[in-house]
Parts: sequence; structure tokens; C-alpha cells
Amino acid sequence: MIYKAKLPNINSFQTKALNFSFYPYDLELKHAFTLANSSRKTTPAMLAEIEYESFIGYGEASMPPYLGENQETASAFYSKVDLSQFNDPLLVDEILDYIDGIDDGNHAAKASIDIALHDLAGKLRGQPWYKIWGLNPENTPNTSFTIGIDQADIVRQKVNEASSFKILKVKLGAGNDKEMINTIRSITDVPLYVDVNQGWKDKHQALEMIHWLDEQGVVFVEQPMPKTDLEGMAWLTQNSPLPTVADEALQRLPDVSKAHQVYSGINIKLMKCTGMREAHKMIALAKSLKMEIMIGCMTETSCAVSAVAQLTPLAKWADLDGNLLISNDIFEGAKIIDGKISLNDLPGIGIKKL
Ligand code: MG
Repeated sequence: MIYKAKLPNINSFQTKALNFSFYPYDLELKHAFTLANSSRKTTPAMLAEIEYESFIGYGEASMPPYLGENQETASAFYSKVDLSQFNDPLLVDEILDYIDGIDDGNHAAKASIDIALHDLAGKLRGQPWYKIWGLNPENTPNTSFTIGIDQADIVRQKVNEASSFKILKVKLGAGNDKEMINTIRSITDVPLYVDVNQGWKDKHQALEMIHWLDEQGVVFVEQPMPKTDLEGMAWLTQNSPLPTVADEALQRLPDVSKAHQVYSGINIKLMKCTGMREAHKMIALAKSLKMEIMIGCMTETSCAVSAVAQLTPLAKWADLDGNLLISNDIFEGAKIIDGKISLNDLPGIGIKKL
């Protein structure tokens, strides 16, 4: 009875408007993120809040530069959002149809509102989303931890630091692929996911490398070839002894059908697909097409990571290390325990603001 008394009166949802607010937040990286000709120590983000009566839903947009959004584009998008026209936060579909229709693009900005609304609606219903969706929290996969392309001594150091993880994800495609794998294999025999980030240009060389990786205990190969090379990718997937996974080649729901028979699986990220509602639909569609499901993230706080973690009982593979890479997380949420994603009982997306 005490538990029930804590729940809000459903009828009262009809009375008040939703109040939306946002502010910029720079995610500070523990280690500089280095690419061929650039290096950065922060990832720009926006934190969003939707308030209704005494409840606050939290959301987040993480915007690594290569995706084309930033704090200015997100602010411009948010300035067009008027949530005061809605007085029932449980009408998630209706509200998110409105958000999606405001403008094209802005996937991360849209995701921040989607996440905040799911957090709010889950709190009003008194349940985490994995329960609302009827998912078994014991079915969450282990997460991988990503090892970037680097010199052998730094790779060895990072692999040693990641010893609590049951799977590592290795970045390849910079010309030293075998050296990277051999360096890691000199330390550990855990299963490896490989992410080439479109780095292989020739399908025959790619297939040869995949055969070698298969012998090294690699589980799948993510985005081996350029996203535009559908023909080469389809050939590679057909001939590959390992599953292939689309990442750069896929953002939103319609992209799932395009990836069918070109890749074996898809890597879903909230910042690409506009949030939890669409991610849930993408999973249903991909499963109906017998495609494998991977769930990933950007560098994010525990807000966005815990939001997407709600879906991980549906995923075969997960790469959710984004919150572990920053030093200024302001949320506590889903945890990694002994390498496995662990969901809690907190309503909404399962977070507490610190
Ligand atoms: Mg990737």
C-alpha cells in the first residue's frame, strides 16, 4: 500500500504542461581521443530536462564533431521546441512524432528529448523501461571495452587496464592490423570485436584479413569497408566466415532494410537514431529480418548509456563503455559488473543525478 501511495494519480497527468530546459555540458575525456590528424580532450554535449509536476526526466545529446552536430545546432533546434502544448507526458509517441517533425537531421538533439521523455514517463509509471518493455534484465550481454589504434606499448598498457572486461573491441584499419591483434594476443585470449571504421578499401584483401582474424578469436567485424560500397560489402558478408556489422552505414529505421543482406548485423546508437523509441523499432525490424543486434554509444554520461542499456536484453553484442571514458559524469546508472551490463530497479532510464 505504501508503494502504491507513492505513485502519482494518473488523472492528474491531464492538468499541467511539460516544461523543457537544456544546457551545454563538455564531457572531459580521461585520455585524449586521437585520430590521424587531430586530437581532442572533450566531447561537446547538451543536457536536457523535462519537468512535470514534481518529476524531472533527464536526457543527453553527445555530439562528437564528425557527426555534424554541436552545441549551437542543438540550441537552435531546442529553440523551436514547444512542449508546453502537451499536458500528458505518457503520450510518448505523439510527442516524439512532433519533435521529429520539427526539422530534418539533429539526431542527437532529438535523442536528448526522447531520453528525457522516456525517463519522465518511466518515473510517472514507477518502472524502468526494460520492465515496461517486458525484458529480462538477466539477458543483458557482456560489454566490450574499446582499444584504440596506438603504439604497441600503449596498447599493452590499455589492455592490462581493461582486464575486468570479458571482451575487447579493437580498432583496425590503419595499416598495422596484424601488429595490433598480435600485441593484444600476447597479453590476453578474451574474445575480440573488431571495428575497421571503413578502413579497408579492397574486398578481396578484406576477406583475406577476416579469415586471418577468424583464426585469432575475433567474433565479428564492424564496418570493414566504406559505407557507400554496398556491392563490395554484400559480397564480403556473403563470403565472410565472421558476421559483419553496419555502423557508419546505418543511422535510422529505414536504414535497417538497406543494410539487410549487405551486413549480418547492425550497431544501434541513440545519438544516430534519435533515441529509445526508434532504437526499439529498429531492433524489432532487424530481428524480423534475422539480423544480429549490437548496441553501442558515443562518449556519454551515464544518462544516455543507461537509457540505451534498457534495450540491451534484446542485443547479442554491446559496446557500452562511453561513460567509463569521461572524468566528469554527473549521473549514476546502469553498471558494468564483472564485464556484464547490470540494470537497476530505478524507474525511467535507471539513473540518479549526482
Ligand atoms: Mg563503430
